[in-house]
Amino acid sequence: MKNPHHVNLTCCKCHEVETFSVESDDYYAWRNGTPIQEVLGYLTVNQREILVTSKNGFPICGDCFDGMFQR
Ligand SMILES: [Zn+2]
Repeated sequence: MKNPHHVNLTCCKCHEVETFSVESDDYYAWRNGTPIQEVLGYLTVNQREILVTSKNGFPICGDCFDGMFQR
């Protein structure tokens, strides 16, 4: 990675911490509205999930996200 952006997010439900690095250009492209799978497709599903949910201020890890829809 030429310019890594470090992501450090805590799931607001289980408090699991996700830390990973993304390419800064990709990160900002996503923040500016590019679909996440186009620019950050190299992340795992869980990493993308917590990143997407962090955008509204309540990061949720993949496990908790799945749990929310399994009833
Ligand atoms: Zn969680």
